[in-house]
Amino acid sequence: MSGVGAGEMGYPPSLGNRSGGNPISPARHGAVNGRGLEPPFKESHEALRVSIRAFVERELAPYADQWEDDRWFPNEVFEKLAAEGLLGLKYPGEYGGEGGDYLDDAVLIEELSGCGSGGVAAGVGAHVNIATPPIFKFGTEEQKQRFLVPAIKGEKIAALGITEPGTGSDVAGIRTHAKRVEGGWVVNGSKTFITGGVRADVVVTAVKTSPEGGHGGLSFLLVEKGMEGFTVSKKLEKLGWHASDTAELAFQDVFVPDENLLGEENRGFYLIMANFQWERIAMALGAVAAMQRLLEQSISYANEREQFGRPIGKLQAIRHKIAHMAVKLEASRALTYHSLRLFHDGQDAIREVTMAKLLSQRAACEVADDALQIHGGAGYVDAIPGVSSSIQRAVRDLRLGPIGGGTDEVMREILGRQMGL
Ligand SMILES: Cc1cc2nc3c(=O)[nH]c(=O)nc-3n(C[C@H](O)[C@H](O)[C@H](O)COP(=O)(O)OP(=O)(O)OC[C@H]3O[C@@H](n4cnc5c(N)ncnc54)[C@H](O)[C@@H]3O)c2cc1C
Repeated sequence: MSGVGAGEMGYPPSLGNRSGGNPISPARHGAVNGRGLEPPFKESHEALRVSIRAFVERELAPYADQWEDDRWFPNEVFEKLAAEGLLGLKYPGEYGGEGGDYLDDAVLIEELSGCGSGGVAAGVGAHVNIATPPIFKFGTEEQKQRFLVPAIKGEKIAALGITEPGTGSDVAGIRTHAKRVEGGWVVNGSKTFITGGVRADVVVTAVKTSPEGGHGGLSFLLVEKGMEGFTVSKKLEKLGWHASDTAELAFQDVFVPDENLLGEENRGFYLIMANFQWERIAMALGAVAAMQRLLEQSISYANEREQFGRPIGKLQAIRHKIAHMAVKLEASRALTYHSLRLFHDGQDAIREVTMAKLLSQRAACEVADDALQIHGGAGYVDAIPGVSSSIQRAVRDLRLGPIGGGTDEVMREILGRQMGL
């Protein structure tokens, strides 16, 4: 099978590689279900969608393979996104944002997935979806000017630092400690698995500020690159998301001034909870968009690839597999859009968001595996330029979904407790 080119595989040119990058479907949104726009999206979101798609095709997709090999995408990506207004879609104009809302960011998340690199989407997503929102929501005016304004301009990159070597799911067990001193705090401890942490100019960092146990004694400090004693101790290697940087961070007697306290002292747990909902919706949206792409790639290949004298899509096993992929996609999309609608309406959506995250992340892993299976050796081997590599990446990248942002087991715990169990 090795050495078989796209033409020989009968792969349609429209989904083939144009410039060494990944395939972009021209009408991904609603293309398979044929219904077009679905609420909460409106006609007004389509212009944004079209312009982001063109940006992704031009500036990101062609470089996905290269950045994967480099284990890094350049900071210039943030500057280019900023120049298009894409780092501040939901923020008010007074901070350099576009004055939109979370639905605009939802469009951005879906379209970013089209670059075919989970690492790029995650690196940008950490900045846009989990690190800057708490600065906007809980920051003082001075903090917004100092951190949010340059973050929207792509001049300062932000990361969120909660997880520690000894503490993942059990957030209340954070050990990184901030001791009160005159004019601020002295921080000691470490963080790990921090997306964007190698390049970050500011890390929104969870610290223990009180000996009080449980959730009570948590606070957030804005720890800045260059503060004495704050270092990137390791750039971590990982299964997927290769283009993104994931850091282990060390804090050794780092003095953080009073003005870098984000939100109220000892009320950091509320910041974490406020952040989780959007993070989980964002992950669900990314998974749905990835499944859409994988489904389209699979249908296309199943129509073109012939075995035993007919297209493999005419073989019942393949046809049924694709049917089931579509069911997983549509069920995930329905629950994700439902939770997005509730969230956008300002309703309590914990239950629906948790369900959407749980369903979509596992479904996306299964759909990626199905897509690989349908492509056979041409999925496993780099036989179809721009296609094989994007499917392989999807298999690796999407596996993070059931772990990051709260594991599947934690999602089930939340749901079980919601039902009084
Ligand atoms: C690539 C990557 C990027 C990340 N980016 C960030 C980031 O930017 N910022 C950040 O702060 N964190 C980040 N994380 C951390 C991520 O949020 C954690 O990995 C996740 O919360 C799980 O924590 P853990 O890995 O320590 O697993 P653990 O909590 O140690 O869990 C291990 C296993 O035990 C299970 N388990 C734990 N508690 C329970 C329970 N109560 N009931 C049943 N089962 C349970 C888990 O589900 C899991 O299967 C990232 C992680 C990865 C891998």
